[in-house]
Amino acid sequence: MDIAAHVASLRARIATACNRVGRDPASVTLMGVSKKQSPEAVRAALDAGVTCFGENRVQEAKAKIPLCPGRARWQMIGHLQSNKCRDAVALFSMVQCVDSLVLAQELNRQCEKAAKTLPILLEVNVAGEASKFGYRPPALLSEFKAVAALPRLEVHGLMTIAPYTPTPERVRPVFRCLRELRTECEQLLGAPLPVLSMGMSGDFEVAVEEGATLVRIGTALFGERPKKAETETET
Ligand SMILES: *Cc1c(COP(=O)(O)O)cnc(C)c1O
Repeated sequence: MDIAAHVASLRARIATACNRVGRDPASVTLMGVSKKQSPEAVRAALDAGVTCFGENRVQEAKAKIPLCPGRARWQMIGHLQSNKCRDAVALFSMVQCVDSLVLAQELNRQCEKAAKTLPILLEVNVAGEASKFGYRPPALLSEFKAVAALPRLEVHGLMTIAPYTPTPERVRPVFRCLRELRTECEQLLGAPLPVLSMGMSGDFEVAVEEGATLVRIGTALFGERPKKAETETET
């Protein structure tokens, strides 16, 4: 499996989607979702120019990150439990999955202890799927200012996971809704929110057309995920 070829093809598809709507391809970050992938796979993606990686489990990231080249940048994209916030603050340059004020307050507390500032995204469950984490839009709008006021957190934007569909065009309204929510949050904040993290292997071109600035790509970059992470430990 040729990760470099996958990266080249993904960059071309991102550029084509950008051209359809008059966007600059440089405005879209390609994140490699490396959950369950080996450090060797991360190294191959780094060599192909991908610098930003997404992990969804703190334990797995804690084992894997020290085995990868130091130039990789890591973001948390999975559901975060309060008791993992201390590790998350130490490991990640951004946490994309903040979905409650309580979680934000715990991250803020851990940042204070570590004398750090943490960029975050707020995760939104746009379609209201029971199986997914994230703010429902009304809760996002009511808690947004309180989260943004926490001194050690910097809200950079919003993130969503669209419902799975074999027909990506059908989730266009989900991506459009996230973009519109971003505008509402910018008005609450009185400042720009530059990041819209949306789009995965099956739907990233539609997400880019709707304004994604960061696409999270796992299988289309690394191939099928192994059943079990190489660095996984029994817990
Ligand atoms: C696994 C995962 C992805 C990547 O999914 P693919 O379909 O393999 O591209 C993106 N975002 C999140 C939050 C994930 O958990």
